[in-house]
Amino acid sequence: MKDFTCIHFPLLAIVLIFFCLLPFLVHQSHSRITLQHENAIAETRQLFQHTIDLRHAIASFSYETAFNIPRIQQLLWEHSRGERLAEAVRRELASEAQSIYRSLQRMGFDHLYFHDRDGTVVLRMHAPHAFGDNQQHSRAMIAAMVEKPVALSGFEGGQMTTGLRFLFPLFHQGVHVGSVEVASSSASLSREFSATLSSASYHFLVPRAAVKARVSASDFRRNYGESLMCPEFVIESALTSPDERGQLADLERALAKQRSFDCSVLMGPEPGATVLRWQEHNYQVLALPVRDFADTTIAHLVVYRKAPVIGQIKRSFWLAFTGLGVVTTLAVIFVILRIHHRLTLEQQLQQKIVLEEQREQQARDLESKNRTLERAQDELVQKTIELERSNYYKSEFLANMSHELRTPLNSILLLSSLLMRSEAEFRPEEVEKFKVIHICGKELLTMIDEVLDFSRLESGRVELHLEPLHTSFLVDFLRSKYHYEASEKGLELVVEDQWQGSMITDSKRLLQILQNLIVNGLKFTRAGHVSLRIQPSGRADLPLSFTVCDTGIGIEQAKRQVIFEAFTQADGSISREFKGTGLGLAISRNLAVLLGGTLTLQSSEMGKGSCFELLLPQESTLPD
Ligand code: ADP
Repeated sequence: MKDFTCIHFPLLAIVLIFFCLLPFLVHQSHSRITLQHENAIAETRQLFQHTIDLRHAIASFSYETAFNIPRIQQLLWEHSRGERLAEAVRRELASEAQSIYRSLQRMGFDHLYFHDRDGTVVLRMHAPHAFGDNQQHSRAMIAAMVEKPVALSGFEGGQMTTGLRFLFPLFHQGVHVGSVEVASSSASLSREFSATLSSASYHFLVPRAAVKARVSASDFRRNYGESLMCPEFVIESALTSPDERGQLADLERALAKQRSFDCSVLMGPEPGATVLRWQEHNYQVLALPVRDFADTTIAHLVVYRKAPVIGQIKRSFWLAFTGLGVVTTLAVIFVILRIHHRLTLEQQLQQKIVLEEQREQQARDLESKNRTLERAQDELVQKTIELERSNYYKSEFLANMSHELRTPLNSILLLSSLLMRSEAEFRPEEVEKFKVIHICGKELLTMIDEVLDFSRLESGRVELHLEPLHTSFLVDFLRSKYHYEASEKGLELVVEDQWQGSMITDSKRLLQILQNLIVNGLKFTRAGHVSLRIQPSGRADLPLSFTVCDTGIGIEQAKRQVIFEAFTQADGSISREFKGTGLGLAISRNLAVLLGGTLTLQSSEMGKGSCFELLLPQESTLPD
């Protein structure tokens, strides 16, 4: 939930700001347009009113100076009383009003009427022959004057074509005797409007029903046109701005097609305004209600004026809207990128934490393994120490035991040898038994020596005595020692020295190894020969090679490694036939290592013989 809020809040805020600012922009733009409309309406109304006021001033001035005079009052009074002939009164009225009528005509007032107090026409200056008809039944203004003799002015409903009318009461000695009426013609009014509304087109729209009720069909066709935007209205042809190119009709048509246009809204009791886009221009369409003398709306003055400022307002709205949109889009993109960046960082952080935890776990595991290892090592060291100690005790025991065995054994050997030599005192079979005792004692002594040797080597208590030694000494010694034994067994002993040089070594130990090998060779060979060859090995580190070969029983493949282990023999039956302890090769290999060399079984073939090779350095060194 927290993540959701964190991620979406900035986005929601931006979108919210956008949707808050948008109505503000729309309202701002709308207010500016409304203000423009209000200004235009005020200006147009002022100009319209100014024209009417000017007409009113002229009419009033004429009334004050030329009509509301005693002579005219007198004539109408006489006419009302029937004291004089109507014809005579009319003639005199016409003569009185002649000059002012001409003046009024020049100023655009083409109608001048005199009515009696019942509303009956006494004189029409523009048509002197038409008189005597009572107007109060057809004209509300006349009826109102009959009802209440006060000055009245304005257009008459359904009869705007007849112009703007001004009606003044006339009194004689305080008695209402009639009225005078002047009317400014539509043509002159139109001229006046055109002059004042020079930058705009206009026409007057009157309700079709009102006109139809007041004018004849022929007058209707002559004086009125159809309205394209409001079918319920007709256009006063005489009160229309000059429109040579038929532009007004086009504007009306365009307005009628405009989606948002509603005639009833524009043509209401209050001034209305709307915007019209036509031929790349913006127009303000203003509708000002025109009221009659009784303040009843009888028509609408509709004005079309170019309004470039509307275009500017619209442009600035779209500019602000686009700007807002771009800023919002950029902000949204920015926020999304930030969120994406933050999520990536969080993921990386998460991964880092996981890795860190894994690393810590690994470190802990490693540490625990190390501890286990250390413990095992400690145990191993402890065990080694114990082993060394027990080995030491064992060797000590063996050494002591061997030593203790040697003393009685030496006595047995000495005594048996003495008894053997006293042949005169004993019978031959007794002497033979003494010999057996002597031989067995010697074998036992050899065995004890081997065990002692091995235990000393095992416990590392064998000391080397290094000295120069010539191979010829070895050759001579071994040849003389084993020549007799070999020939007794019917074997040939071959000793070859291809080295014939000196070396530094422990001669006693070297001889022990070689004797061991030769004795084994003689022991396990029934026919053939046993040979010792001393020659260069070809190796730089161990240049001296001593090879002892025989033509004996050979060693089976599986036993070639184990024969170097202590107390191990190739075959159990061997020990019975050839005797031995199984320690000779183990002691020899240990001694070879002690001298810095190696002892290996080079080759062996069952029934054909074996070859052992001892490799030694030319100069042995004391072990550390
Ligand atoms: P031992 O000779 O006292 O038994 P060694 O350690 O000298 O002990 O020899 C171990 C075994 O290796 C012998 O018992 C024998 O089986 C085998 N062996 C040693 N030398 C030879 C050889 N030259 N020919 C055949 N077998 C041999």
